[in-house]
Amino acid sequence: MSRRAEIAANLAAVRERIAAACADAGRSPDDVRLVVVTKYFPAADVRLLADLGVTDVGENRHQEAEAKAAECGDLGLCWHFIGGLQSNKAAAVASYADVVESVDRVKLVGPLDRGAHPRPHPVDVLLQVSLDPPDRDGRAGADAGDLPALAAAVAEAGMLRLRGLMAVAPLGEDPRAAFERLARIREDFVAEHPDATWLSAGMSSDLEHAVRAGATHVRIGSAVLGSRPRLK
Ligand SMILES: *Cc1c(COP(=O)(O)O)cnc(C)c1O
Repeated sequence: MSRRAEIAANLAAVRERIAAACADAGRSPDDVRLVVVTKYFPAADVRLLADLGVTDVGENRHQEAEAKAAECGDLGLCWHFIGGLQSNKAAAVASYADVVESVDRVKLVGPLDRGAHPRPHPVDVLLQVSLDPPDRDGRAGADAGDLPALAAAVAEAGMLRLRGLMAVAPLGEDPRAAFERLARIREDFVAEHPDATWLSAGMSSDLEHAVRAGATHVRIGSAVLGSRPRLK
């Protein structure tokens, strides 16, 4: 089977899963956007995805993302940055990412806003909220209690647009319980920020739970592109 046929078949299966999850949850499939996570996969795969109707792609490492976004600049894709952000790279990320999903501390806001400045439109921002226990090693994302201050900082930045929240289900926990927690955090958040209705949650293994909990964006890598090479 050609790579194109393989990706097309996987995409169709993922789109069916999304449609079935939406039907179960009484939601319209148009309300859930598929972001295909292309990390570790070559720009040639990004081209195939665009040709197969994918509009949004996600990357988690700055150097790889920057190179791929440049190489695929003619495709008109929406690029999501979904990885851990270093403050010394944040300005560079905002120069090519259309959506930065992993904003988890106030220190990132200034550099992101500066990096977005030369762009024709503001960069969309999601605040990453942690669903991990507070003592978990390598924890990414802000505490729910820190979201108000972070949201205020983003809202004040001229070239950033606060769109909503992003989260990853913790390893070793039932994603259903984690995403139910997320749905409550989001409810409080949207009450304060009625325009920030995006919720990015759900990966290959747990998208159904995320859709049930109200996700508007699912980030799907391996179910579309296959298992990732362990090292690049
Ligand atoms: C890699 C990654 C994904 C995609 O994971 P799959 O299990 O391959 O679907 C989603 N979200 C984030 C933050 C990631 O880093």
